[in-house]
Amino acid sequence: MAPDTARDAAGTPVPRLEVRNLRRVFDGRAVVDDVSLRVMPGQVTCLLGPSGCGKSTTLRMIAGVEMQDAGEIHVDGRLICDTTFRVPPERRNIGLMFQDFALFPHLSVAENVAFGLKGSKAEKRARVEQLLGEVGLNRFIESYPHELSGGEQQRVALSRALAPRPGIMLMDEPFSGLDNRLRDEIRDLTLDVLKKEGAAVLLVTHEPEEAMRMADEIALMRDGRIVQQGAPYNIYNAPIDRAAVGFFSDIN
Ligand code: ADP
Ligand code: MG
Repeated sequence: MAPDTARDAAGTPVPRLEVRNLRRVFDGRAVVDDVSLRVMPGQVTCLLGPSGCGKSTTLRMIAGVEMQDAGEIHVDGRLICDTTFRVPPERRNIGLMFQDFALFPHLSVAENVAFGLKGSKAEKRARVEQLLGEVGLNRFIESYPHELSGGEQQRVALSRALAPRPGIMLMDEPFSGLDNRLRDEIRDLTLDVLKKEGAAVLLVTHEPEEAMRMADEIALMRDGRIVQQGAPYNIYNAPIDRAAVGFFSDIN
């Protein structure tokens, strides 16, 4: 576990991210309904569920770009958002990665990764080289995005998101734009880098296989609610109901 793990008075590690009873209503319908989640430092929690079940809305509330109608968000045991109080997105120390991870086309790979970094030129350069080394792209440091394949661009986007050392990474279906052949490889590499960097990760996916491969913990979501939460192996072996069985049955 990351050395900077916060602990409570009894010495118990505090979750890096904790969401309590989060709720969001659109047009009179709760699309996120009483969602509670925890992510420990250095761990990957997958929010897994079919399209339309409320995953992205949950992530957007945690990122701070969407307001919740009820519930609280805590980071390292500190309240960062409820319905009366709100730390702005840019001060949440949260990294984001989405499917359309658009890099800045007019900036080099190095400039893309350094974008938004603070510090001296040398410090920024060192961080850029470190991250591009971790994702295996040092040779492309002076290239431009259009000279890279989709998978390579994705690795640059990961580096860019991790550059400011976010304590939390929110990833919304980040691999769904990649072809099958690449996807497993990039999932594994991404997991390696995330673990090395020590971020707590909340990964949204509708693919059970991806959750099984990447998660330390899975939160199974349906119709706005978390219906089951636990270790991947446990959920796979003991799905809570027939719908969950069906959902996992695609995995070969
Ligand atoms: P997922 O990411 O799991 O596919 P979303 O969180 O994107 O699901 O959406 C959950 C539900 O909320 C969907 O039915 C979607 O149509 C609805 N929804 C999302 N955003 C809005 C919005 N801004 N206004 C109205 N309905 C929305
Ligand atoms: Mg979504």
